[in-house]
Amino acid sequence: MKIAVLKEAAEGETRVAAIPETVKKFVALGADVAVERGAGDAASIPDADFEAAGAKLGSRADVLKGAGIILCINAADLKGADAGALLVGALDPTRRRDAVDCYAKAGIDALAMEWMPRITRAQSMDILSSQSNLAGYKAVIEAADAYGRAFPMMMTAAGTVSPAKVFVMGVGVAGLQAIATAKRLGAQVSATDVRSATREQIQSLGAKPIFVENVAGIEGEGSGGYATEMSAEYQKAQADLVSGHIAKQDIVVTTALIPGKPAPRLITDAQLATMRPGSVVVDLAAEAGGNVEGAVSGDQVVKHGVTIIGAANLARSLAADSSALFARNLYNFLSAFWDKEQARPLFPDDDEIVRGIRLTHGGKVVHERLTAA
Ligand code: NAD
Repeated sequence: MKIAVLKEAAEGETRVAAIPETVKKFVALGADVAVERGAGDAASIPDADFEAAGAKLGSRADVLKGAGIILCINAADLKGADAGALLVGALDPTRRRDAVDCYAKAGIDALAMEWMPRITRAQSMDILSSQSNLAGYKAVIEAADAYGRAFPMMMTAAGTVSPAKVFVMGVGVAGLQAIATAKRLGAQVSATDVRSATREQIQSLGAKPIFVENVAGIEGEGSGGYATEMSAEYQKAQADLVSGHIAKQDIVVTTALIPGKPAPRLITDAQLATMRPGSVVVDLAAEAGGNVEGAVSGDQVVKHGVTIIGAANLARSLAADSSALFARNLYNFLSAFWDKEQARPLFPDDDEIVRGIRLTHGGKVVHERLTAA
């Protein structure tokens, strides 16, 4: 079984889908690994390190030729790939539906890792979690960088510097890491979510939970851990709560997402105007439509003296770590299905993970989320 690792072509992409550690592990499973020359450059992994781990280096055409498995970060151009090859990566199937049709036509079995089901068995394969965790960390670092004041309280001979007040909205994987990072930097942290299960998680990180009390939110974890769109009554109660709280905050990090829907609007322009000048808002949902009115995905704007950072793909700015975690997610997934005798992964049709992520199979688009549309 030959495994190809591609050099990412998408603009701004810095990550690579394998690291020397996972190359070694694939070789130990009996696979041959071929890495496109320069694939690890932007993640500070020299070609020589891949070679030392047991990979062969080559051009894109060389690595694709005869490959049974193709690993990538983003959906890729696969000219030269063999029919029957398996493509594994973040394939963005909803937005790149055309590419999925092309994979089917080319006889490539495409597996979209971002549709990994949220089940215990799949935790170590979950690219959304591994990348969101880093994004949550980096969001706070970016906020601290843009904030013209210090985060921790400092008592100095020249007087006291007061601690920054940080409010995290949306306490999933990214939000939890944002809380932990802001606490480590010495901020006073509060946080909110619609899922009641997050209250304890917020407290366990030493932050203050701020919850809508008069209207029921989502009891427990919600389906697969995800939130849904909230009722108009809840949204109104949440807006009132946020209005009261936000004026006293220096930094707000928003991370709220609803699968398959635009991101919920959590902060209006009028609410931004109540924050003191110099405050910073980081909108991690900017790419999905934004939690914050006026946020521009991939850009920084100033409104009412408040800096709004429309964070896009923050994990890319931590290329070495995000590559390592992504690469391990891919290895954990493939090795879990690896058949030693046949020296390749086997995917049972009725497996929950396989059903969750398989987009194309045997020349057809097979995923129900795509065929139903
Ligand atoms: P996400 O990125 O979909 O959303 C981020 C957060 O925003 C969520 O906590 C969500 O409840 C919240 N949110 C949505 N609408 C909101 C609103 N109007 N106001 C405030 N907050 C709002 O979430 P995620 O980071 O992918 O994690 C979701 C859940 O999945 C968590 O419980 C996590 O622990 C769980 N999870 C489970 C697994 C697994 O078991 N394999 C893996 C990863 C995550």
